[in-house]
Amino acid sequence: MTEISWAVIGAGPAGIAAVGKLLDHGVAGEEIVWIDPDFAAGDFGTKWHAVPGNTQVSLFLDYLNASPSFRFAEAPPFELNNIDPQQTCLLGVVAEPLVWISQHLCERVKPVKAVATELALRNRQWIIRTDTDEIVAKNVILAVGSTPKKLDHPHVEEIPIEVALDPKKLENLSLDGATIAVFGSSHSTMVALPNLLATPARKLVNFYQSPTKYAVYFDDYIQFDDTGLKGKAAQWARENIDGTLPERLERYWVNSPEFSDQLQACTHAVYTVGFARRQLPATPQWGTLDYDPSNGILAPGLFGVGIAFPEYRTDPFGAGQYRIGLSKFMQRLESALPLWLRYGA
Ligand SMILES: Cc1cc2nc3c(=O)[nH]c(=O)nc-3n(C[C@H](O)[C@H](O)[C@H](O)COP(=O)(O)OP(=O)(O)OC[C@H]3O[C@@H](n4cnc5c(N)ncnc54)[C@H](O)[C@@H]3O)c2cc1C
Repeated sequence: MTEISWAVIGAGPAGIAAVGKLLDHGVAGEEIVWIDPDFAAGDFGTKWHAVPGNTQVSLFLDYLNASPSFRFAEAPPFELNNIDPQQTCLLGVVAEPLVWISQHLCERVKPVKAVATELALRNRQWIIRTDTDEIVAKNVILAVGSTPKKLDHPHVEEIPIEVALDPKKLENLSLDGATIAVFGSSHSTMVALPNLLATPARKLVNFYQSPTKYAVYFDDYIQFDDTGLKGKAAQWARENIDGTLPERLERYWVNSPEFSDQLQACTHAVYTVGFARRQLPATPQWGTLDYDPSNGILAPGLFGVGIAFPEYRTDPFGAGQYRIGLSKFMQRLESALPLWLRYGA
């Protein structure tokens, strides 16, 4: 059994930021346990390599430069450094520095290659059970990420979203003559549709709920930053969804009279309908724990960051949005960590 001050669960971009910021705040490396099954930069490193990002390169650089413990200024040159900061890039290009940073952070803290399965609060300390070990920590940061939501249409063969977003993976499927239902009108939808149009599928049918929404850029602020389409996905949607529909693409509102028959005729489906928090380690003392979106607190000494626990803020027009993205995870830690450091059990 290991006893420690801080445990960070998850080594995606949010977990990397949490470890960096704890070190920046003077927490000693030997007082931090970092738990992840792979230490491969989370979904950025393992699933989204071929996905065009929706964030300008400058915001990725803001994240990478925000923690002195990342030592990004001393890093070898990455492809990311050669891209115009105002442009977007493939997410694999961002995964490279993330993996480099994880590797050297792992040398400073105590990495544990495992999955955390249970959390319990006893004697003002958190007991973390993993598949191999039991760790005692005064504080725990959960950065467990999220998984794609799915719909239940058993008659169609599902194409997983990570395949639909990666042209190389799509090449391995035999889609000759397929009719593919694509649910959603999100960033992922606008990446998946052109990828699928490049396959020999007979027809794509996009089922949507609402009109497209685009981010609007001002000098110092982006309206609909977290909900609007950006980058290449926005450009494609403007030209093809709100412009001229490509020949092999049809669109139907999910509440239209045609919905049922159109879906019945589909052979495959891609669900680009959002993401849901990955299953948390079990907390049998309380059942399912939730977080306070204004400060990331789940319980005394238990905190959440990243896509699974996004910060909630209102925009200048008064509409609320959940803030998702690497630079936003970093900003959340910058504002909340001083509170978390004083909010142990
Ligand atoms: C298609 C797509 C495009 C995106 N594009 C952008 C973009 O352009 N710019 C941007 O800033 N953001 C983007 N995002 C949003 C977001 O930044 C990413 O989803 C990012 O990967 C979230 O980081 P995370 O660390 O919260 O979670 P993840 O990357 O999912 O990492 C979570 C980690 O926790 C581990 N874990 C989970 N449960 C446990 C457990 N019980 N025990 C131990 N380890 C565990 C997982 O194995 C994983 O390594 C995009 C997201 C998607 C889906």
